[in-house]
Amino acid sequence: MPKYIVVTGGVLSGLGKGIVSSSIGLLLKRRGYKITAIKIDPYLNCDAGTMNPFQHGEVFVLEDGGEVDLDLGNYERFLDMNLSRDNNITTGKVYKNVIEKERRGDYLGKTVQIVPHITDEIKNWIRGVAEKEGADICIVEIGGTVGDIESMPFLEAVRQLRLEEGGENVVFIHTTLVPILKVVGEQKTKPTQHSVKELRAIGIDPDAIVGRCIEPLKEETKRKISLFCNVPYEAVFSSPDAECIYEVPLILEEQGICKYILKKLNLSDREANLKDWKDFVNRLKNGKKKIDIGLVGKYTALGDSYLSILEAFRHASAELDAKVNVVWVEAEELEEGKKMPDVDAVLVPGGFGERGAEGKIMAIKYARENKIPFLGICFGFQLAVVEYGRNVVGLNCHSTEIKPDTEHPIITILPEQYGIKELGGTMRLGAQPVIIKEGTLAFKLYKQKKIYERHRHRYEVNPEYVDTLEKHGLIFSGVAEDKIRMEILELQEHPYFIASQFHPEFKSRPLKPAPLFYGFIESAIKKRYGE
Ligand code: GLN
Repeated sequence: MPKYIVVTGGVLSGLGKGIVSSSIGLLLKRRGYKITAIKIDPYLNCDAGTMNPFQHGEVFVLEDGGEVDLDLGNYERFLDMNLSRDNNITTGKVYKNVIEKERRGDYLGKTVQIVPHITDEIKNWIRGVAEKEGADICIVEIGGTVGDIESMPFLEAVRQLRLEEGGENVVFIHTTLVPILKVVGEQKTKPTQHSVKELRAIGIDPDAIVGRCIEPLKEETKRKISLFCNVPYEAVFSSPDAECIYEVPLILEEQGICKYILKKLNLSDREANLKDWKDFVNRLKNGKKKIDIGLVGKYTALGDSYLSILEAFRHASAELDAKVNVVWVEAEELEEGKKMPDVDAVLVPGGFGERGAEGKIMAIKYARENKIPFLGICFGFQLAVVEYGRNVVGLNCHSTEIKPDTEHPIITILPEQYGIKELGGTMRLGAQPVIIKEGTLAFKLYKQKKIYERHRHRYEVNPEYVDTLEKHGLIFSGVAEDKIRMEILELQEHPYFIASQFHPEFKSRPLKPAPLFYGFIESAIKKRYGE
């Protein structure tokens, strides 16, 4: 029988509930418990795939092709496991199921209501995931802030879950903000008190409180939270701003958070094996080789749009004694005549649509001609083909995504996309096999002939141009099993010029950096510091 840890948030969104949840998951996993995690997003979208990364941060892609909230990326990285689309519940998914059942007649004769029909659907979903995965403990993070209209049915569902499963099988952890007023310099607990009051009005008494604050919570602050929020003193934990997110589990471990949770769940506490994690965090914090990487995008104002890429930099840096400084380059500004900054490497990430595409092509040309290490991902791969087609082969070419009537459609829509009208969940998605040619840079990095990497695209290299591109020196070192779909390109006579149709960043993890990122950081170090 799985047990449940439900993590809620108060006062503000964006508190780092996902990191707290992932951290607890890691600490329990390292004690030998089998863990799974569910993220609940109370929006009406069926999945994150149709949302603008500028509003919600990056769309994370799973092995099974699920397009999900970026918190699932944190769970995968902390727990070092692959999750499935069912690990992300949204209001849209829940209502869709219930409405389909109603139409089928499953509730015949009944008035279908939020309680019990929607709440039952939510509980069944949570239990279904925990049981299917055979988890000892399932972490359920409820997105948004307690008090939001949207999250009400989910909070009601987990209240019922505790009632049905029993207090020793479900614990509630509430994460809140503890602000410090500059003038008085005092840690203020009132917002926490109010949000706990809100939670208790719904019928949920938190078992523990994690206070997010720029500094560790003072004893006096913890005492106040304990008294006013009705939790024992030893159940108030502090999660101060950390230098890096991977440090958060260690900060919580020191305070004995698992000891407390396991006692509540009536499970035995065990020794946590955290040695490799600690070493990883130390290496990450103490990287000595500073490198500047130009990230050429169009949502550069919001780092969360490229979260997995930034994490992948960290995973590779930790193994290479490096420290990456990201130089954000707005692609549109390059079009307006701004010069590429002087960087050690250039990355052109995934993207959609016309805005900034020419700027990205300029950045690729700059990296190719000046022999600056380059990594292109998805749209970055496609635009690298356009750049090569234009400037080396001499074709007036483009992607039909940007210019449908281009003279040479060197990037074109995937055949299975013809006639697709619905935009949600219809791209080529998830893990697909890629065959790597021996003797190439890609093979040197992956050391394998067949790999599985995650995809999210509608366009691809037009097979009619592959021969011409190859004759002009472009190497397609990775192809799909059908040999028609190009997956990786690279160049000789360049220190590091590689791009992939897939997204290597989604599978990069602490202690297991993605090969394309490892090679990229390594070559940036060489560029800066020599051999
Ligand atoms: N817009 C491109 C496509 O749909 C690239 C997508 C991406 O970069 N994720 O194929």
